[in-house]
Amino acid sequence: MYEQKTIADKIKCHGVGLHTGETIELELLPAETGTGIVFSRTDLPQIVDIPALSHYVVDTNLATTLGRQSHGITASISTTEHLLAALRGLGIDNLRVLVNGPEIPVFDGSAKHFTELLLSVGIHSQNRPKEYIVVKKEICVRDGESYARVLPDNRAHLTCSVDFEHPLINPQPFSFDLAKGNFARDLAPARTFGFLKDVQKLASMGLAKGGSLRNAIIIDGYRILNPEGLRFSDEFARHKTLDALGDLALLGHPVMGHVHMHRSGHTLNLKLMQAILADASAYEIISAAQPEAATIEQLGLLGAIQSLA
Ligand SMILES: [Zn+2]
Repeated sequence: MYEQKTIADKIKCHGVGLHTGETIELELLPAETGTGIVFSRTDLPQIVDIPALSHYVVDTNLATTLGRQSHGITASISTTEHLLAALRGLGIDNLRVLVNGPEIPVFDGSAKHFTELLLSVGIHSQNRPKEYIVVKKEICVRDGESYARVLPDNRAHLTCSVDFEHPLINPQPFSFDLAKGNFARDLAPARTFGFLKDVQKLASMGLAKGGSLRNAIIIDGYRILNPEGLRFSDEFARHKTLDALGDLALLGHPVMGHVHMHRSGHTLNLKLMQAILADASAYEIISAAQPEAATIEQLGLLGAIQSLA
């Protein structure tokens, strides 16, 4: 039986918020089984808890922002996707994230720092079976030329492709199998990216105040402006895969199925989650203790997610 997991010890860190440009402190705390991932804003007149569930998404422009009202206080937390990707990639189910500002620090624009911090304290197995969302039928959503599709599969598998018609952007799709892949090596270090003209526009609007070549790949017509270049020749598709993994964590459980994304973004990722949850025949929540999980377990698939931890 595969057990739920949390971290073995607390983690404190701080970093700059991409949009506010301010230093934000973060504390990650072990949490009991069944908690899921919960963000807590500690800088408001009263602490507000925001569960990491798609139901709480309030904005998907530039990043995934969750929010809720509690006791007359409106609280939100932005740029959740890279931390959530690290948690999902390492098989962590239960965690409290205390944060004293409106966004999660961006660090280098990838999930590398979060992954290293989580692995440095260790991952703790809890005495309760994991639960999975098992996809039962194909669900497809479109938004113009973008699409996202999920198919039943005995694996947790993501495939993303980008299409920017830019000489430096490799159009090859990137596939990541959570069972067989090495999250820390192959997905966590892939950085977010932007085009110089868009970054200049955001700056003129007072957004992306914390943005720099230290936390994003910046591209103009013919060049990558970062002196160190790319970490992977297909870093763009890998980052889209990382974002999809982080956003889909908002389903509340790991997804057993094959997710295909083309020209994806946070809005499309949310649309896919909403379409899955709107159709009760599209999925089933299965505990690792149930007999139905046995076939998946026999294939070593649930265990592989475990083995990453
Ligand atoms: Zn991202």
